[in-house]
Amino acid sequence: MHRMKRCKAERAVVNIGSLLTLEPGSGAGPLGIVERAALAFAGERIVYAGPEEKLRDAVELPAAGSILDADGRVALPGLVDCHTHLVFAGSRAGEFAARVSGKSYEEILAAGGGIHSTVEATRRASESELLALARRRLDRFISFGVTTVEAKSGYGLDLENELKLLRVARALRGQHPVDVVSTFLGAHTVPREYRERREAYLELLVHEVLPRVAAEKLAVSCDVFCERGAFTLEETRRILEAGLRLGLPARLHAEQLSRSGSIALAVELGALSVDHLEFIDESDARLLSGSRTTAVILPAATLFAGKQRYAPGRMLCDTGCRVAVSTDFNPGSSHTQNLPMTLTLACLGCRLTPEEAVRGATRHAAAALGLESDRGSIGPGKRADVLILDSPDWRDLLYHFGGNLAWRVFKNGQEVLVSR
Ligand SMILES: [Zn+2]
Repeated sequence: MHRMKRCKAERAVVNIGSLLTLEPGSGAGPLGIVERAALAFAGERIVYAGPEEKLRDAVELPAAGSILDADGRVALPGLVDCHTHLVFAGSRAGEFAARVSGKSYEEILAAGGGIHSTVEATRRASESELLALARRRLDRFISFGVTTVEAKSGYGLDLENELKLLRVARALRGQHPVDVVSTFLGAHTVPREYRERREAYLELLVHEVLPRVAAEKLAVSCDVFCERGAFTLEETRRILEAGLRLGLPARLHAEQLSRSGSIALAVELGALSVDHLEFIDESDARLLSGSRTTAVILPAATLFAGKQRYAPGRMLCDTGCRVAVSTDFNPGSSHTQNLPMTLTLACLGCRLTPEEAVRGATRHAAAALGLESDRGSIGPGKRADVLILDSPDWRDLLYHFGGNLAWRVFKNGQEVLVSR
């Protein structure tokens, strides 16, 4: 019988109880689950993903020392956190304590808290200080099985400091196994020194900062916080269109504290994602469902900010939107890197099913970054980013609320986390 030349695998994982491929065609149910499965990697790519009984026909196996026995555990794509504010300095622990002790927002601002305190601390910090802080945060992300993290600027708010934050994010790529995907968020808030002349800040963003960001290839998308007290719909359009002209796809902080009508703008501009969505309504959701734009919900921010109103995840899914889930890791309203816990909150607060939640931090999160053809699912040719849970039941990822079941993490085919 003629046999095709088999690919030589450099690493393999055998005896996987359930492999969540996230490719419904290649396994059972919406998560594409293959039972009694195996994986093989060559370089940074997956070369085999499927039933273990077919592994040896498909690839030439590596030496025994490069084969991991998963002993019936669950394997799934490395998690993708598609919305974080990774790079900043300073702590707002005092502000948190004051807030939960009943201090008003005005009192907290008067005591030097709020986003502007992070801006001041971040402006004072050197690139190397910011780099060390962000590296430690990525260590925590990877400990939870997160292998790709989006990172927004937005605590510099002037030319020099916004570029500094994006350069730190770029430097991380050579220093840490987690992939960092950079987004420019100069329009996070109007900095204090521009409070009386916001038009001048918009001019600065559009005519000076964005062109430099694009010229130095420091970001792959452009985000705006479209909200009362931040940027109006018209200002949002102006900034996002300037980004698009420079080749930076749009993203939006949208419908978080009020309904602004920004979903129609996002769809019109072909935005990669609209994020937050606590105040999105069904007409918005219908617009989204027919578009390429991913709906990103951030339930940890709802909980941590002490709010009651979660994004209507159930309605978004039922309307046919592609829904992703992210931590919104940031120093003020969501200081967690625990993406699995955030998935539990997406089920409890936003009424996603467990399957929808897992898809929200894998396949759909990759789509929110425009990376779905490369990662977020498991199959031949995909990046070899894989999380192995210390459990035979994938639902334990959500059920162990606030815990950590990451047992092994592979990034680009290399084992980067080993836990006992
Ligand atoms: Zn955010």
